[in-house]
Order: sequence, then C-alpha cells, then structure tokens
Amino acid sequence: MNPIQPRDDLRSLSGYHSPNLNVSVRLNANESPLPPPAAFVDDWLEAVRAVPLNRYPDRSARILRESLGESLGQPTERIFCANGSNEVLQTLMLTYGGPGRKALIIEPTYALHSHIARITGTEIVSSARSADFTIDPDALESTIKSNDPDLVFLCSPNNPSGTVDAAEVLDAALQSARGLVIVDEAYGEFSPNSAIGRVNEDSALVVVKTYSKVWSMAALRLGYCIAPAWVVEELEKVVLPYHLAAATQSAGIAALKYRAEMDARVRELVSERERLMEGLSGFEALEPLPSGANFILFRVGKPGDVEASSRLWAGLVKHGVLIRDFSAWPGVEGCLRVTVGSRGDNDAFLTALGSILRESGDS
Ligand code: PMP
Repeated sequence: MNPIQPRDDLRSLSGYHSPNLNVSVRLNANESPLPPPAAFVDDWLEAVRAVPLNRYPDRSARILRESLGESLGQPTERIFCANGSNEVLQTLMLTYGGPGRKALIIEPTYALHSHIARITGTEIVSSARSADFTIDPDALESTIKSNDPDLVFLCSPNNPSGTVDAAEVLDAALQSARGLVIVDEAYGEFSPNSAIGRVNEDSALVVVKTYSKVWSMAALRLGYCIAPAWVVEELEKVVLPYHLAAATQSAGIAALKYRAEMDARVRELVSERERLMEGLSGFEALEPLPSGANFILFRVGKPGDVEASSRLWAGLVKHGVLIRDFSAWPGVEGCLRVTVGSRGDNDAFLTALGSILRESGDS
C-alpha cells in the first residue's frame, strides 16, 4: 500500500486513453497529415537561434498575442495563449470552475472537457446530444436554466461526431447562461462558421483554438482562446508564470506568415473529407455522419453493435491502418472515427476497409 493516495475524488480517474500502435497509416488522432512548410521551419529555427536562452521567455507572450489578434481582427487583450488548447481549457476550469462550481458538458464530446472538470474538482452536469448528435436549442436553454452552471461547454465541430452546431445553439447558450460559455473550435477551420466574431466585452463567451490541427504543429503544443479582456486578465493570474516557452511563442508567430498555404491545405482536406465520405457511404454496413471537421465518425452495422465495430477496428490494424475505436464509448457505441489524411493514406484506409468488409460479407 502506498503511503499516500491521490485526493479521494481522483481515485477513480482513468487517464486519457488513445492507443498509439506502430502502423504505417495513422488516422487516429486528427492530426494534419503534412508537416509544416519547410520555409516555416527555417524561419522558426532562425528565430529560436536569436532567443537569449538564459532568460525567461516573455511572460505575457506579447508579440504572439499581438500577431494572433491582428490575424483574427481582435485586440491583443482578448487573446490568451497556452501549451495546447488542453492547457487553455485547464486554465479556464482552474479559474472559473473548481469546488462549488458546475460545468455543463453535452455528451458525447471531447473527453478532456469532463476529465479536466474532474481534476479541478468541478461538478459536472451532463446532458445528451440528440440521436443525430445535434443540440436542440430549446432543450439546451431549459437544461441551463434548471442547472444554472458556471461554465457551459460547446464543441463545434464536435469531437468525435463532427457535428457543426447551428447558430441558434450558441444563441440559446448565451441568452440563458449566467456563467462562461466556452466554444471549443479546435476544428473550426474545417467548418464554415466560427463564433470568434461574437466575442465582445459584454458577454462571457470564450472561443478556444489550437495550432495542433490546421497549423500542423501538434508536437509544439500551442493553443489559445479569444475571450473578453476581463477573462484573459483572470486567466493570466492563474496560469503558471513563464508557462509558454520562447520556442513555442516563436513558432506561433512564424506560422502566421503561412496562412495562405494553410488555407490551401484546409481546402484540400475538406475535399478529401468529401471523398472519404463518399467512399464510406458506398458500404452498406457503414453509416458515416455528416462532418465539419478533419475526421468522420461512422457507425458499423446496426446501431450500438459494439462487436462489429471492434472487429472492424482490429481488422484495420492488421492491415496497418490505425483509426480511433469508439466502439464502447458511451453515446457513440458501435462507432469508429477516421481522421482525414493524405490522399494515399485515405486510399489505403478505403482499400483495407473494402477487403475486410468483402471478406466478412458485410460490404
Ligand atoms: N479540443 C478538441 C475538441 C480536441 O479534439 C483536441 C485534440 N484532440 C483539443 C481540444 C486539444 O488540442 P491541443 O491541446 O493539441 O491544442
């Protein structure tokens, strides 16, 4: 028996599980299939070479926040940066959640929303998306009114379903919530609408973004949020001083010069997404769900057929293709999620899928 145990409310916590197997086609983590442009890497390394490494980094990440603000049409004071959007979410929860506070989380959604709520001792109020994974604005409004949460989490496009929330969903949240409304837009660039334009000083709306997907920088860990200046001020008090390394700040600044390249990549991935969607729809045993992200969730067999989806997932691994297994995940039972990859990887996935389903007579 260890001499000390974690806090009572953390005993039953399980870590973040996303198996990382050694396969040739990795379509499991919603990453970009491409590295950042080579010229970006050169610019970044040059900037890092000029950093006085014996000094702490700029604590306020001023130049990065200014550059991001400029690119988003928002004042610097409304930008908060951290090590991945996960750290942004954690800082929001540390600041506005915690013991005695409640967060509304609409499942199924990104697992880290409830995970961070638990770690920070924030009470979770859980509600469910409709069967088609949309959110009914009236139902949302009444859930908010009856539970009075301090934080409301939305995720659009939603991970893992890919669902893009209708504008009315955000309207309903903003009209009825007393506390913060947080929209996780980690995949926002792949969808036509964003809530960023609605951030202002008079409402408690926070939009969370990341460099991990479109910007091909998952390894560097950089995320940010656009929030009223009075929220950013509080976040800066809570986050650890000097949390954002100079190398990370430089990367975020250097990347912004490559917006045109990144926009072109988004268009390419969106068109690959439509091709994958068509490919998946061609199999009778599969039901892909509409997606506004760089991934597609699909049902395997009859709704909730956990065995059929697990079998298909394992079959794909045997073919050297790793996707994300949601077979036993509450709310998405019997589903798998594939990240939109390069044309070659997507073809490898569709080919493997075809041969497995044909063999089992499910095509
Ligand atoms: N939000 C959502 C919805 C995500 O899917 C992810 C990554 N899987 C994140 C946030 C976190 O991304 P990062 O910490 O890499 O910015």
